[in-house]
Amino acid sequence: MKDCLFCKIARGEIPSKKVYEDQYTYAFEDIDPKAPTHVLIVPKQHIAGLKEAKSSDAEIIGRCHLVAAGIARNRKIEDSYRTVLNVGPGSGQSVFHLHVHLLGGRNLHWPPG
Ligand code: AMP
Ligand code: ZN
Repeated sequence: MKDCLFCKIARGEIPSKKVYEDQYTYAFEDIDPKAPTHVLIVPKQHIAGLKEAKSSDAEIIGRCHLVAAGIARNRKIEDSYRTVLNVGPGSGQSVFHLHVHLLGGRNLHWPPG
């Protein structure tokens, strides 16, 4: 998608603090972190959000989560982190390119707000 912020970040057209990249996914530091670790993992292909995802997107959505797990392991927070997908404006979704939030490095309360 030409004008999508996270497509542009994944293509390197807008700068980001890269954490990880492979053929399918791109991970970068959130610009406004809500925890000591706050990384966003996005598919390189444009998917607007979980609501819009098709069954053919199942593998890439799974990959995004596995990348999150790998980053958590590397940062040694594997016993205390959360992966989040905000879906729709009512949940706080503000960027309409599917992204997994990886949050950790502090106590995470339940239920989330
Ligand atoms: P959401 O509210 O679930 O759509 O999450 C969007 C996230 O993207 C927020 O946590 C923002 O802080 C983050 N964000 C917005 N613009 C950028 C950017 N240019 N680089 C990194 N993170 C960003
Ligand atoms: Zn996009």
